[in-house]
Amino acid sequence: MIDLHTHTTCSDGTDTPRELVNKAIVQGIEVLGITDHDTISGWQEATQTLRGSLQLALGAEISCLTHDGVSVHMLGMLFDPNHQEMQKVLEETRDGRLPRMRKMIEKMRAGGMDISIEDVEEAMPVGATMGRPHLADALVSKKIVKSRDEAFIDLLHNDSPFYVSHAAPTPAEAIALIRRAGGVAVIAHPFASHRGQILKSEDFADLVLAGLNGIEVDHRDQNPDERGMLRVIAHELDLVITGSSDYHGTGKLNSLAENQTSREQWERLEAQSDARRVVRA
Ligand code: AMP
Ligand code: ZN
Ligand code: FE
Ligand code: FE
Repeated sequence: MIDLHTHTTCSDGTDTPRELVNKAIVQGIEVLGITDHDTISGWQEATQTLRGSLQLALGAEISCLTHDGVSVHMLGMLFDPNHQEMQKVLEETRDGRLPRMRKMIEKMRAGGMDISIEDVEEAMPVGATMGRPHLADALVSKKIVKSRDEAFIDLLHNDSPFYVSHAAPTPAEAIALIRRAGGVAVIAHPFASHRGQILKSEDFADLVLAGLNGIEVDHRDQNPDERGMLRVIAHELDLVITGSSDYHGTGKLNSLAENQTSREQWERLEAQSDARRVVRA
């Protein structure tokens, strides 16, 4: 079992890195990718918890924004954690999330909702990358909605009047950065159309020129037609195909390893980083 995309309390997941690694061991996962939003702060605890035959593919899910304002998530894995420019870009993206959250809250208050930045800070672990799921949790504790899911459906989706984007690199910039840092770049759930505006099929060629290594095809937010189109694009452009859970603990319905990456595709992907960076116990 290979699951290359998961989240912890270092961003908007609900398991600590230690709890996640322990669950992966219990479930017999062979390779676990930990990809918190715009941070590598969980890498150390995950590595310290590692034992047995589990291997870690450490990474980050980098928030990107196209020039047309389309939100894209880029999975960077197996890169050098000491790469200065990578550290700087991740930090800048995280920093942009506080003013963005304030703007979303302003809009919600103008819409009559009793919610504040303090409510959001209370709803999130210290040091986590601040995101909409934390706002969703704050809305749940204020009894404005019943669940994270309901918050996204009614108020927080990408086309909602309360949605605000934050400063982020373009997908091509993020890919080039991941490759300069020695890692591999896999575009996350590119056709998750129900979330809002998505890339077009013809956008992928430029991403390949930037150094894209793979496409996440098997993901719960992509239906069979969307997966089929992505498989065709991956074959045409000779890209690795991955599948993953995008596990967020109790924060989302996704269960660990509900979608997986084949051994063959994983080996192909791993061979494209500039050093063997998989962590073994
Ligand atoms: P942000 O990075 O702040 O824009 O928030 C994006 C995060 O919201 C991603 O991690 C998504 O997994 C999460 N998300 C998107 N849609 C939903 C949903 N319907 N329920 C729960 N979380 C969601
Ligand atoms: Zn998330
Ligand atoms: Fe994502
Ligand atoms: Fe994710």
